[in-house]
Amino acid sequence: MTKMQEYMQRGEENILKTYNRFPTVLERGDGVYLFDMDDKKYLDFAAGIAVFALGYNNKEYNDALKAQIDKLIHTSNLYYNAPAIDAAAKIVETTGLSKVFFTNSGTEAIEGALKVARKYAYLKDPSKDYEFIAMNHSFHGRSQGALSVTGNAHYQDGFVPVPMRAVFADFNDLEDVRSKINDKTCGIICEVVQGEGGIYPAEKSFLEGLRALCDEHDILLIFDEIQCGMGRCGSLYAYEDYGVKPDVLTLAKALGCGVPVGAFVTAEKASHALVPGDHGTTYGGNPFAAAAVNEVYRQFESRDLVGHVKEVGQYLSEKLDELAEKYEMIRDHRGFALMQGLEFDRPVGPIVTAALEKGLIIISAGTNVLRFVPPLVIEKEHVDEMMNILTDVLDHLA
Ligand SMILES: *Cc1c(COP(=O)(O)O)cnc(C)c1O
Repeated sequence: MTKMQEYMQRGEENILKTYNRFPTVLERGDGVYLFDMDDKKYLDFAAGIAVFALGYNNKEYNDALKAQIDKLIHTSNLYYNAPAIDAAAKIVETTGLSKVFFTNSGTEAIEGALKVARKYAYLKDPSKDYEFIAMNHSFHGRSQGALSVTGNAHYQDGFVPVPMRAVFADFNDLEDVRSKINDKTCGIICEVVQGEGGIYPAEKSFLEGLRALCDEHDILLIFDEIQCGMGRCGSLYAYEDYGVKPDVLTLAKALGCGVPVGAFVTAEKASHALVPGDHGTTYGGNPFAAAAVNEVYRQFESRDLVGHVKEVGQYLSEKLDELAEKYEMIRDHRGFALMQGLEFDRPVGPIVTAALEKGLIIISAGTNVLRFVPPLVIEKEHVDEMMNILTDVLDHLA
């Protein structure tokens, strides 16, 4: 047994089995490449599930974190800390929203966003048992609260009843949403581009319609940009291109580029709902995590990452169109910029496994969709390299 195989075995013996992991132990990274314990090299088109936007072993990012480690890692939220204040100000400035609460994960950002909407409604009328409208095929996280609004039955199997009431509507079907609003509805939650559900972008008219419905009923519109935000869709936040602003925005994944941090961000209108005592976190927004956020925004600006994503994303689009054209087993090509998906007429598990063997890390979104969410610093030559491997894999399958 190699050292790597031994580790995989120890992993199975000691880590709770909630994942069927791919057979490799990743050890280090450099740019858009990862290396496993056997020093096998992989081109990374997954970015740790849309997280590591800046690429691996990014010197300035590493230096910023090391400097903060030497100063102060944690304070709790009983005191102010400068990195968190700078990070919050940056998010407020770039979103045009009003206040930020930092969390340790995407799921926790969702929990906070749901609490904001419930409390907003409660302040108007405390007598009701409030509920949400969420979307079919959505994904918002694994805690019981986030599961309540996750519109994919198999995630809820074995964990019902969930603590919050939600009714599910079809994504991009405004009439369906409208028909489900009642006097108990306190918020509508949706991803701007559905990620785990299979890479489905919202239509502009749908988001505009949700905005109008929420204004009409004075309920909160929550956009979950945990996956599609932070430049991935070709604007810093995906909603910008739609011209529709949420009342609450959730961020995570690429926000800290690997340091676990998320946030929910409230518009002016929703910023009074939570008051001291209503919500808290021990770690959330600690100086270490906040230093990561600050460095991420700094590099987004200094390297014009959003501009880069638009350019290379367009190239990826063209290449995937060609692929969809060439192979009959590809049924659909969806998404844009560096959040794209190819839907196959079959489960993509074997494609993902074969690609891994050939040195390409790529992931699925649901059963039949191959998901392309590479580090945002990816170049056209890497797209070509990915295409060569993938074509090879598909030729063997066809
Ligand atoms: C990943 C994801 C979450 C959950 O985030 P975690 O950090 O895994 O808790 C929520 N919403 C969306 C859209 C996501 O992609």
